[in-house]
Amino acid sequence: MSLLVLKFGGTSVADLERIRNVAAHVKREVDGGNACAVVVSAMAGQTNQLVALVEEAWGYKVRSQNGAAASAHYDTREYDAVVSSGEQVTSGLLALVLQAAGVQARSWQGWQIPLRTDAAHRAARITGVEVGELKARMLDGEVAVIAGFQGIAPGNRIATLGRGGSDTSAVALAAALQADRCDIYTDVDGVYTTDPRVVPKAHRLDRISYEEMLEMASQGAKVLQTRSVELAMQKGVRVLVRSSFDAPDLAGKGDAETGGGLGTLVCHEDEIVEQNVVSGIAYARDEAKVTLLKVADKPGVAAQVFGPLAEAHINVDMIVQNVSDDGRHTDMTFTVQSADLDRALEVLRNSKDSIGYLDLRGSTDIAKVSAIGVGMRSHAGVAAQMFSALAEKGINIEAISTSEIKISVLIDAAYAELAVRTLHSLFGLDR
Ligand code: ADP
Ligand code: ASP
Ligand code: MG
Repeated sequence: MSLLVLKFGGTSVADLERIRNVAAHVKREVDGGNACAVVVSAMAGQTNQLVALVEEAWGYKVRSQNGAAASAHYDTREYDAVVSSGEQVTSGLLALVLQAAGVQARSWQGWQIPLRTDAAHRAARITGVEVGELKARMLDGEVAVIAGFQGIAPGNRIATLGRGGSDTSAVALAAALQADRCDIYTDVDGVYTTDPRVVPKAHRLDRISYEEMLEMASQGAKVLQTRSVELAMQKGVRVLVRSSFDAPDLAGKGDAETGGGLGTLVCHEDEIVEQNVVSGIAYARDEAKVTLLKVADKPGVAAQVFGPLAEAHINVDMIVQNVSDDGRHTDMTFTVQSADLDRALEVLRNSKDSIGYLDLRGSTDIAKVSAIGVGMRSHAGVAAQMFSALAEKGINIEAISTSEIKISVLIDAAYAELAVRTLHSLFGLDR
């Protein structure tokens, strides 16, 4: 008997027919003698609708369009109360469908487990999962159907884990339960060399290292939420990404021990025999660029800019600083998530006196394209190759950032797909 965590994303639970298909996957594992916890997302599109309702209720979009002053800071505790509800529905529905199929099952909300988080509502971090009761029932043959994406924050309020957070719910549960496997069922049959919906020549990887997956996810490959990969790497959880659209009776072959056959196994680097210099290309279109013009060029100014953003829980990604034309000031450009742009601009406007700048600009017409591979550690010249290939296509680079195993460039959004395809061919990844 194995202890398994199975996670099903939004498209996999989009309607009752798909939920029945999910139940068939779960039943297969139960019939195989395994103890199962199943984490579900909200039905596809549901969370977006709930987010839109929150914004409408707060009146932010409406008021800012009318030119009236409005704050982008709504109460994130109430955002969480609303957007966490999609998972409540699917967890109850899957439990019912399983029961109807003769499988013992019970739904669990985050607070009922409890899965505890910190107080950073809207993007909370998991601080602990108490699985005693859950595990006892699982070992007794009851399937635990868990609402993903949500937990309980100090003060007994519901908190959500950031968009795509059900992946992290699943990995955290797998770690706490000491599960043998964490299967992430989604609408593609594994992790590809790049988004297969953008580059038809992309191919599925049998295995990918935690580190590469972490970079892929954080650079925009939303197939796994970044934090879920971080956690899996930290706790050594074996994650298998696979398709929920494979026939349930065939799908048992994908085995986390081999990673072969079905899906992609996310595992330690030394478990991967063949390794390309570049393993994958990721892109993100959900970042926005903020530019501060003519900031005083003096010690401490960067802290004055980024301190208030950090306090507002706004993550900053790429940062570029140029001496401005008068030589006494500096222009500062950095990127944030598009969803945070309005709040970032508001925070910076409020700090204008303490920072001291001439002008502030925000733009969402940008994309970040990244090449990722552990092979870069031992190969020189990858960046140069990448920059010349982009130049040949007439693509201008606005900012660059690198890590040991990644090179990212910021470009005009209109060139995103061309850049991804160009780099995918350049590094020999085309199928
Ligand atoms: P779920 O709702 O199951 O969580 P997501 O939409 O969050 O699914 O993630 C799956 C999607 O991730 C795929 O449909 C695919 O378009 C996208 N994706 C982006 N990059 C990759 C990649 N490198 N490999 C596989 N899928 C990718
Ligand atoms: N339903 C949430 C979202 O759309 C969580 C998830 O799908 O993982 O972000
Ligand atoms: Mg997802």
